[in-house]
Amino acid sequence: MLNEEPGGHGVLGPDDIRLIPGAGRAVRAAREAGYLAIIVTNRAQVAKGFVTLTGLETIFARLRELLAQDGGIVDAIYFCPHHPEQTPGGAPEFQIACECRKPGTLLLRRAIADFGIDLGRSPLIGDSLRDIGAGHAMGLTSYGVRTGYACRDVERYPDRAPPVPDRMFADVGEAVAFCVAHPAKHGQAGQPD
Ligand SMILES: [Zn+2]
Repeated sequence: MLNEEPGGHGVLGPDDIRLIPGAGRAVRAAREAGYLAIIVTNRAQVAKGFVTLTGLETIFARLRELLAQDGGIVDAIYFCPHHPEQTPGGAPEFQIACECRKPGTLLLRRAIADFGIDLGRSPLIGDSLRDIGAGHAMGLTSYGVRTGYACRDVERYPDRAPPVPDRMFADVGEAVAFCVAHPAKHGQAGQPD
């Protein structure tokens, strides 16, 4: 959502981070409007053995650095290192079914508790339907963006209706601009899917 989806196995190192144009300015604009900027991310590359926890720290450090170049300060990053499949070459301790991998809500619940987040005034912005589903499960108004997965991952929902973003935006910059301009919208549309 903040960075381009590199394809393949995803972001495996700091050099794989390419920001969506305007992402740093969007984070800055959100915080200047009084929002916290909290990242909640699935990092199954750890379970699959492509990235170590130490490597993940270097990736997050690079992401923070790039965003900060445009004034975007990230308040916190919550990540899920797990994946339920026992693939060869993976890290067995992380190859588990967990509650933190989105659309699981454990990371959102942690962030909400840690920061005392007001659900009725806090939007979620995501590029995958898993993000939207996790947000709606928490009652968060959840906006989709057309970068990355572009909320087109309907194949994850073969046997039920996929989550529907409350609104779609071109990118994070457009989504944040809407949030800043229409703060009263949040908390009215988020319904469990
Ligand atoms: Zn997890």
